[in-house]
Amino acid sequence: MQFVSTRGTQPVNLDTALVNGIADDGGLYVPTELPRFDVADFANAQSLKDVAAVLLAPFFEGSSLQNDLAAILGETFSFPIPVTRVSSSQGEADLLELYHGPTAAFKDVGAGFLAACLGRLEGDDASPLTILVATSGDTGGAVAAAFDQRPGMRVVVLFPDGRVSERQAHQLTCWSDNVLSVAVSGSFDDCQALVKAALTDKSLAEDFRFSSANSINIGRLLPQATYYADASLRHFRDTGNKPGFIIPTGNLGNAHACIMAREMGLPIGPVVLAVNENRTIPDYLETLEWLPRASVQTLASAMDVGDPSNMERLRGLLGDADKLREQVSVASVTDEQIKTSIKQDFADFGFATCPHTAIATHVWRQLTDEQRASSEWVLVATAHPAKFETIVEPLIEATIPLPPELKAILSRPSHSVTIAPSLDALTDSMRDRFFNI
Ligand SMILES: *Cc1c(COP(=O)(O)O)cnc(C)c1O
Repeated sequence: MQFVSTRGTQPVNLDTALVNGIADDGGLYVPTELPRFDVADFANAQSLKDVAAVLLAPFFEGSSLQNDLAAILGETFSFPIPVTRVSSSQGEADLLELYHGPTAAFKDVGAGFLAACLGRLEGDDASPLTILVATSGDTGGAVAAAFDQRPGMRVVVLFPDGRVSERQAHQLTCWSDNVLSVAVSGSFDDCQALVKAALTDKSLAEDFRFSSANSINIGRLLPQATYYADASLRHFRDTGNKPGFIIPTGNLGNAHACIMAREMGLPIGPVVLAVNENRTIPDYLETLEWLPRASVQTLASAMDVGDPSNMERLRGLLGDADKLREQVSVASVTDEQIKTSIKQDFADFGFATCPHTAIATHVWRQLTDEQRASSEWVLVATAHPAKFETIVEPLIEATIPLPPELKAILSRPSHSVTIAPSLDALTDSMRDRFFNI
């Protein structure tokens, strides 16, 4: 299997696409052609790992990791991804619980897969690979957890000091010696600018081999496609119907993976992109004009994206807005509606949802009778509510029990360095940590 940039350069194999992350021309890697499957191809695939092995085998053709696929999937899916039946006065739906990984959000899947692949391709004790990641919350924790204690790999996580929640900060700062957690006195934008500066600095390149683990790496999308394949196959086998998916959407990585799975022939019905008050995608489908903009802050902070980078992949796969809007729908949800939805979910389901998941359940409640009659629905739950307890607990007037994975993280000692937003300060802290161990 070969991968090309969305802006069209020479094809590369999976290894190169994973290591580079972004193509030289600034585009995103996409497969030259998607493999096509039939439901019967999965007849012997009973578990998520079995389904993933069938679905991803073509992508690994020509990769040096071809014979490692089973081991990579074993590491990636070290936790369950269950489907729970929920009901309300509107009817019943399936909740796809993607939040049982080490940091209790779906980003654990992509980060775990990327770490399993890069550790095999690039892990080198003599000259370790250093992953730089700027984070406003969920991504950094997932990446740190995935690379923690991995031989030949280091991680530097940069986050804005005092601008992440206490529990989020803990998830960014509780790892082993190969993870350096840096609190930057500044904004998320300052963190991103520092990562960019470090990646292009010539003198740093003499001491470090750098890579980044941002959300546009194809290594995030491939494992995400597998849980949509698995959930849709289960539903199809049980009922004979193709389920629809309602997906909380920010940078469009999770939803794009679902659409890829549908294009590959998996039994997936309608797909609804559920966004917060960042309306770049709904406005595009309405006006046919692509107008990225600065993000606005909402309660569903991991979806505060004003310029969703995976739109470039989606347009390449399905076409521009006029074609896109025939193949996906989109709904935008306000903070007030998120709050109402969190309360309603707790009343209806008997357990809490996170602010991102509550966007999907809100959209589900608002479906038209026609949409409700045409499909059964899977609602995608992207994070555990205990990660966002300061928002959720006052609304439901109850304490959310900590899931075991979060309890384990929060009991680890936390350590970080605080720096001014300058490349010199970042360089000093990295030299201190990695050359004085
Ligand atoms: C990242 C994230 C999202 C958005 O996913 P995208 O792939 O960026 O669309 C939704 N919910 C949670 C909890 C997240 O961490």
